[in-house]
Amino acid sequence: MPSKKNKTELIIIGFLCICIGLFSFARYMGWLAQDSGLLPMIARTVYGPDVRQEMARLKHAKDISSGIPHITSLCYHEVTPDREDDCMNVKPEDLRRHIREFKEAGYVFIHVGDLQNYAAGLAPLPEKALLITFDDGYADNYNYAYPVLREEQVPGTFFVVSSTIGKENRMTAAQLREMQANGMKIGSHTVTHDSLSNMSAKEVDFELRASRETLESILGEPVFALAYPGGKVNETVLDKAKSRYEMAFVAAVRPETKQTMYTLQRYGVFSWNKHIESIFRNR
Ligand SMILES: [Zn+2]
Repeated sequence: MPSKKNKTELIIIGFLCICIGLFSFARYMGWLAQDSGLLPMIARTVYGPDVRQEMARLKHAKDISSGIPHITSLCYHEVTPDREDDCMNVKPEDLRRHIREFKEAGYVFIHVGDLQNYAAGLAPLPEKALLITFDDGYADNYNYAYPVLREEQVPGTFFVVSSTIGKENRMTAAQLREMQANGMKIGSHTVTHDSLSNMSAKEVDFELRASRETLESILGEPVFALAYPGGKVNETVLDKAKSRYEMAFVAAVRPETKQTMYTLQRYGVFSWNKHIESIFRNR
């Protein structure tokens, strides 16, 4: 006969096993997908991303969006060697590993200018085209991501919040100009980074127009690409984006949604993505 203490231990162990089993099953079924909440984050921290699941999502996203250029787009945010606990932060060595793995797999790196030329019928796109983008304009993009991109000789596209240029922890106008002069492209991430889908048409138009004007006055070149803050859009936002830009990006892959040049999907890269090239094998 097990003692009372042993019985309690058995019950606790059994309960934990059931929890782990349910958690693993939920993950296997894809209920813990890339973009939502605490549980998926715990799942990825414990197991890493589910490559099979991610491949299936990307393939579906591609299959229902035949009308847009066939490219692979990545969305990074912060790039620093520290801040281990920040899921939005990718270490420079991880960024470099991602680039090298894509190079080995035969990818050719493009920026939004190449995409614009393709859309205008001026130049073809490489068969395996990869677009690397960075959102929010953090100073670490200049300090850590830009040197990696230069050393690896690949272009990056940086979506900058115009009202924060030169502010604490953000890139300066001079840094943006330097990056542009060395093959990088700069796009708009609006004036304030507030969610456009909560704004009136007039407010949306201001966010899109004024950020473009500020960036163009700094860069002396047309700014034609937009990334929606938070990635949310509605009909008003789409209409305004079409009147002010030549392309616009959301920040996640939504396999159930057909893409257009104004809802180009990017794969969000997070701290747990140590290797990502394999996820795109079915792209
Ligand atoms: Zn953002």
